[in-house]
Amino acid sequence: MGDDRPVVRVAVPVPLADVFDYLAPAGGAPAPGTRVRVPFGRRERVGIVVEHAAASALAPAKLKPIREVLDPVAPLGPELMQSLRWAADYYHHPIGEVLSHALPAVLREGRSLDEPPERAWRVTEKGRAQPLAEIERRARRQAQALAAIRERDASEIELAALGIKRDVLERLADRGWIEPSELEPRSQVAGGSARAEPSAEHAAASAAGDGALPELTPDQLAVVTAIRAERAAGFRAYLLHGVTGSGKTEVYLRLIADELAANRQTLLLVPEIGLTPQLVARLRVRFGGELALLHSGLTERERFEAWRKAWRNEARLVVGTRSAVFAPLPAAGLVIVDEEHDASYKQQSGFRYSARDLAVVRARRLGVPVVLASATPSLESFANAEHGRYRKLEMPRRIGSAGVPRMKIIDLKQHASRQALSTPLVAAIGEHLKAGNQVLLFLNRRGFAPALFCPECKDALQCARCDARLTVHARAGALRCHHCGAERKLEWVCKACGGERIAVGAGTQRVDDELAALFPGARIGRLDRDVTHRKGALAAVLDEVVSGRTDILIGTQMLTKGHDFPRVTLVGVLNADQGLFGTDPRSHERLAQTILQVSGRAGRADRPGEVLIQTHYPEHPLLRCLLSHDYAAFASLELAERREASWPPYSHLAAWRADATEREPAYALLNKVRAIAGRVAADNVAILGPAPQPMERKEGRYRAQLLFRSAQRAPLHELLRVTLLDLRGAPEARRARLSLDVDPLEL
Ligand code: ADP
Ligand code: ZN
Repeated sequence: MGDDRPVVRVAVPVPLADVFDYLAPAGGAPAPGTRVRVPFGRRERVGIVVEHAAASALAPAKLKPIREVLDPVAPLGPELMQSLRWAADYYHHPIGEVLSHALPAVLREGRSLDEPPERAWRVTEKGRAQPLAEIERRARRQAQALAAIRERDASEIELAALGIKRDVLERLADRGWIEPSELEPRSQVAGGSARAEPSAEHAAASAAGDGALPELTPDQLAVVTAIRAERAAGFRAYLLHGVTGSGKTEVYLRLIADELAANRQTLLLVPEIGLTPQLVARLRVRFGGELALLHSGLTERERFEAWRKAWRNEARLVVGTRSAVFAPLPAAGLVIVDEEHDASYKQQSGFRYSARDLAVVRARRLGVPVVLASATPSLESFANAEHGRYRKLEMPRRIGSAGVPRMKIIDLKQHASRQALSTPLVAAIGEHLKAGNQVLLFLNRRGFAPALFCPECKDALQCARCDARLTVHARAGALRCHHCGAERKLEWVCKACGGERIAVGAGTQRVDDELAALFPGARIGRLDRDVTHRKGALAAVLDEVVSGRTDILIGTQMLTKGHDFPRVTLVGVLNADQGLFGTDPRSHERLAQTILQVSGRAGRADRPGEVLIQTHYPEHPLLRCLLSHDYAAFASLELAERREASWPPYSHLAAWRADATEREPAYALLNKVRAIAGRVAADNVAILGPAPQPMERKEGRYRAQLLFRSAQRAPLHELLRVTLLDLRGAPEARRARLSLDVDPLEL
């Protein structure tokens, strides 16, 4: 009887398999993107309709009907469904998992899209005046609830997590001690890890909030005008190459304002919201209530509320990190990717997608312009611009009169250095401090020292589970592996020979100590993950710098992220050599980006800046190129090398990675992949490997990789598809873990 009802393919979030056939309910087949409740095994599951099918491969008697349609309107609209299906195809990832990236967990659980917003409570004057200790004796629950709400406004979900039930809250409300509050989700108050102490954000907000918009510089105006002129044409991809301090953010703000005026939405992707409280503050000042933030620091409830605002077109500015590329945009007008070169746009586990690339895919489907912006664009985007696929727009000048900072190289072979600080650098730090300016030092290595060495035994302590040395964390009295997190007690006496071990090399902690000894009066700040894992610490460190309470800031990669530190005039790159001879084809690109990004913090507005780069290889062509601040020159040099070697963007890559507790199963699996692919014999796809991954052993597992490389996309993807199909059920796949990474960022 059921066989004349339409068949519907439903994605169900279970491992391995992806879509299952069901019979449409009597009311007709629900639209793709709709959530449905379906019988699954002995249970019931929430799935998402992927497509309608003419027929099923299953016998009609085996087809079960959909039990319930959960949405009157599909939460995932047609464009988003198409983009997600494209992504599942392109990254060869199960559609069920891809779809679940796009839906907030609250919806995946089957809750209604129309759920009332979360209720929140705040304390009243009367409630604040109550003696807690006394209430505690009579009504412990009430006292606990009152104490929590006194501390800060709290939502019922948060309170429920503390074991406080709704009836308790209602009793407090009856007494007039608390009242409902229009609590914005906390995401609306402060971004990510900065939420607890949004002081840097507030400082920036008040600085930016004094009314009139700045007059655009000629460069900014040219860019805004160019994009406006083509706005009616729909999709167009732009590469905005603007040096740090050229005022890219102001360009975004004008373009966003245009879209708001036309009643359209903008999606703005940023690398890490926690690291850029200043940007969020500026957006809030300009666009306040239009803003919805989506990032990993949210509770599931907050994520749902922000997502729903976008879905209902109540938030017309959606700002978020990587996964926000899947935000619903029913009234899309514009997509912007800030710092488009940033590696955080690539997800490195599970569904390994590139948010930057998907932003372009979505913009094309949505028929809206997309702006990829950076001071140091990825070579992929550079090449796309060169080939005319993207239109390049440039802002080569900084705002203000300071001009680009002077860059100089310090040859470490010629100058003595102590704990990574050479004599000329120390002298320069002294001068800049004396002039009342701030100094920024970049060292991509946290901890006290990267190795603990026994001079007698001539060896350094290794992690038992990784091919890596243990890092000395002197203050914590610990040795830590930065790759697996293993930790043990720091002992200076060598177990083998009884001699004294020494800490070799310097991390940020050690440089911090050294600076304190060299400049006793200076206030020194540190920015690395050891510092910022404490809640609110990141915002506090940034705030100290912005407000001028820090004289010298030493930090890791975190320094490179778009901070606006107006009083920094000297930037020191303590060790440029780490990236000069990397084996990864992208190591030069990354080094150039890092150096230029961190240099960009020097000398903004009216203070000229200076950048000193310490290296043992002062003649290296990459460094010579950067000395002239010419990223475009670097890019063409590097692109020529990539072309020569057939690396991306002149080829397309996919990396198969396998790992296991022993070496053999990882290789057996990759050799199997190789054998299958070899049988298919696509002669325009090269197969390289298997070979060990750069750190072969990590967390106790041996890791190998196999690369597929092709000048054309189509044959590569066809080979991946066929190979994956053939690999199903292979016994080798049971003995090692396998992943496939399309367009890998790291090799
Ligand atoms: P970028 O993102 O390109 O590094 P920012 O957008 O942070 O640059 O701008 C650098 C500084 O210049 C900021 O302090 C910003 O407020 C200021 N600024 C931007 N545009 C203008 C303008 N048109 N007139 C004056 N100041 C501006
Ligand atoms: Zn380890």
